[in-house]
Amino acid sequence: RSLEEILKDGIRDIPDYPQAGVVFKDITPLLADHEGFSQVVQALAASGRDADGNVVVDKVVGIEARGFILAAPVALALGAGFVPVRKKGKLPAATYEESYALEYGKATIEVHQDAFEPGDRVLVIDDVLATGGTVEACLRLVRRCGAEVVGTAVLLELSFLPGRERLAGEQLTAVVTV
Ligand code: IMP
Repeated sequence: RSLEEILKDGIRDIPDYPQAGVVFKDITPLLADHEGFSQVVQALAASGRDADGNVVVDKVVGIEARGFILAAPVALALGAGFVPVRKKGKLPAATYEESYALEYGKATIEVHQDAFEPGDRVLVIDDVLATGGTVEACLRLVRRCGAEVVGTAVLLELSFLPGRERLAGEQLTAVVTV
């Protein structure tokens, strides 16, 4: 099966979730499909390699919660470390935090202050890019830690929302754009 077919079959629309009028993109069928999951992980991992296939990242960041599911296997595929960016109050050691407006409300995310070595090259992974607020806050967190952002890769970009414009100037790759 082509990646295109896999993505078409694996991502479904759930109307009126989490609230009336919102169409939620549900990736759980894709995750349940071994071939689909592996192909998506390989596609995301390509953002951590240069044109010759050399790995150019030291750490892969996953954004809670669906970002974890994708970022951890990407980190292993690249031979890089994994760093969780979590919702406020979940990380046990000293953190930096950033707040941002979300598509459905407001949120604060955190990272451990010692999650990176100075100059670490970082790939940020999330499942869906909507307004871009989550990724934007995550990039601020990574940079506050003294690490270098190599790029951001998402499974799905919602092009009817201004996420890409908000992240203008950033290296941003989507496996699929709708
Ligand atoms: P943003 O900050 O508006 O770009 O929203 C992105 C965040 O919200 C990501 O962490 C996604 O997991 C989540 N999100 C927004 N819309 C959807 C959706 O349709 N499906 C799955 N996750 C979504």
